[in-house]
Amino acid sequence: MLFTKDDWGKALEELRKSTRILVPVKEGDLHTFQPLAEKGIPDWNYQNTRMSPKALVYPQSERMFEYSLGEGDANAHVLKESSKEYKPQAVVGIRPCDAHAFQIVKLNFDNPEFKDPWWVKRHDSTTFVGLGCNEPCSTCFCTSVGGGPFGKKGLDVILHDLGSRFLATSLTAKGEGFLAGLKGGQKAGEKDIAEAQEMEEWAGQKISGKIPTRQLKDKVVNQLFNAPFWEEVAFSCINCGTCTFLCPTCWCFDIQDEVLGKEGDRIRNWDSCMFPLFTLHGSGHNPRDKKTQRVRQRFMHKLKYYVDKYGNGVQCSGCGRCVRYCPVNIDIRQVCELMNNY
Ligand code: SF4
Ligand code: SF4
Repeated sequence: MLFTKDDWGKALEELRKSTRILVPVKEGDLHTFQPLAEKGIPDWNYQNTRMSPKALVYPQSERMFEYSLGEGDANAHVLKESSKEYKPQAVVGIRPCDAHAFQIVKLNFDNPEFKDPWWVKRHDSTTFVGLGCNEPCSTCFCTSVGGGPFGKKGLDVILHDLGSRFLATSLTAKGEGFLAGLKGGQKAGEKDIAEAQEMEEWAGQKISGKIPTRQLKDKVVNQLFNAPFWEEVAFSCINCGTCTFLCPTCWCFDIQDEVLGKEGDRIRNWDSCMFPLFTLHGSGHNPRDKKTQRVRQRFMHKLKYYVDKYGNGVQCSGCGRCVRYCPVNIDIRQVCELMNNY
């Protein structure tokens, strides 16, 4: 379907009555996903959000259960599941690397062994409408990790920005339903489709960052673990946690009880392997009490343990956020190369 950008905006406005629509909105110098029209107008001409959109499915802090410790309360000491919101939502304008990231983390939250019911329900009630990248930035390396600037993994619809128009193509039944609910589009012509294909090829060639990953699966875990380069890789790291906080494929969390008076909540919060408390045991022992051990954990998890466990590439979608925002310029592309070529 082909939409003028004006018509696309109007169609989303109309759909907003039945579906929560999240769009990229500029706030200061940065973009974030916000509900349409509540906090400003969508800016389709953006590179990517600084924070990954993972929180739209997997909130940074989530109340799991609640309880009361009050005496005389019939429900005292009973753990009740907290109410949660699963209203249908569509993330419109998500970049392909971030949609791909949801497929990577799905292996952790939704697999034959374990299902996280909250992640699964929120993921299932979300439609992912991707916006292909006409101008990938220099820190992107999606093509090295199974994606691309117009990659389709994890998307229900893909948009090609053809200047004054959007070409919207459905990729799943959910995507078909989404487009059927939009008014004002028209059938795309052969010329539009050819223009979109040309754009895809052109954008793919613009990705200059390439990393080798092919040999990671053949490496011996203990040899990589004991490799001499970890001290050097970790030397400048200040364990700030920026890389894991911004990453769309980092999924670790911690569960804490928060009690106020006689009321308690059991909450899960994103956690980071970069923090010293991450693996602190109740006994006081910490198997990763040194910075080098924590840095090694981040890269071994993404580029070796995940590779061996799932046989499905690396735990990274090449969005480049950790490369762009690490305050001391630690670059996962260089670490991956060291590991792959060791
Ligand atoms: S962003 Fe850089 S300095 Fe901060 S924890 Fe990650 S690797 Fe270390
Ligand atoms: S490891 Fe870095 S490049 Fe890869 S998905 Fe996470 S933030 Fe993006």
